[in-house]
Amino acid sequence: MPATVTLLIEPLPADASVDDLERTFREVDQAEPALRVGELSTQRGDGIFETIGVVDGHAQEVRPHLERLRNSARICDLPEPNLVQWEAAIATALARIPATGEFGIKLVLSRGVEHGPAPTAWLAASPVADQSGPREQGIRAVTLDRGYDRGAAERAPWLLLGAKTLSYAVNMAAIREAKRRGADDAVFVSADGYVMEGPTSSVILRRGGVYSTPAPSGAILHGTTQQSLFEHLAAIGGQVEYRDIPVADLRSADAAWLVSSVRLAAGITALDDRPMPYDAAETAAFNAYLLTPRD
Ligand code: PLP
Repeated sequence: MPATVTLLIEPLPADASVDDLERTFREVDQAEPALRVGELSTQRGDGIFETIGVVDGHAQEVRPHLERLRNSARICDLPEPNLVQWEAAIATALARIPATGEFGIKLVLSRGVEHGPAPTAWLAASPVADQSGPREQGIRAVTLDRGYDRGAAERAPWLLLGAKTLSYAVNMAAIREAKRRGADDAVFVSADGYVMEGPTSSVILRRGGVYSTPAPSGAILHGTTQQSLFEHLAAIGGQVEYRDIPVADLRSADAAWLVSSVRLAAGITALDDRPMPYDAAETAAFNAYLLTPRD
């Protein structure tokens, strides 16, 4: 069984109902060229994506990821995706990858080729590198200025801030800057001094027994992992809240994590070179929960 699977998808209109969805997928070899040179995803990063974690053949949080894909499409004026078709594509990929181990399934919806007839869509499933280091030992993080304030999304919707667009060059540059400063990852801070998110993760902190994450103001992505963890914490009697978090509250937290679909929960062990309290037991409990099959 191949460890990677790539499906090119003929995107259907959101309301189309097709009996044989398999006919709209075409498997291609990940090593072979499959996109046209005029693709706007490659030329301009003009498209959206999702990355879904797969644990032992089960794709986690598929619906929340697909809802976010739909929301990103709306923000970017892309045609609304047909979620039933995407679900079927995910099921097809799951049937073709090994039934054990961790995988990532990336969904991409691009504006297509300039003046082309339709958007371009594909799915790529690949094995995930070993994540035991960040999950078990934690990560060192630095705060980095995001360059705009918390209200930027409302004031300037053309910045597409709440959408998960393919344009991740800035996010990758932030991780390189974190590494230059001797850390593993970054926490973006708004120009007005509030915690936002990591370049590829959401921030959760615990202070006085309350778990907090930045209010989804439209300037950050609403993380599926954070939402699932909050539902779980609330179900076991934890107190969770969305609020504006001044950076000082993160520095003085009792514990803090960066959470995301593939790496899952990574505890922050140091922030801007100052040690942070690291809760190994709670981090292990978070990851045990995040590794169990969830819909
Ligand atoms: N924020 C950003 C900017 C991200 O890129 C990601 C994930 O890639 C997240 C938050 C966390 O989202 P999720 O938990 O759905 O993976």
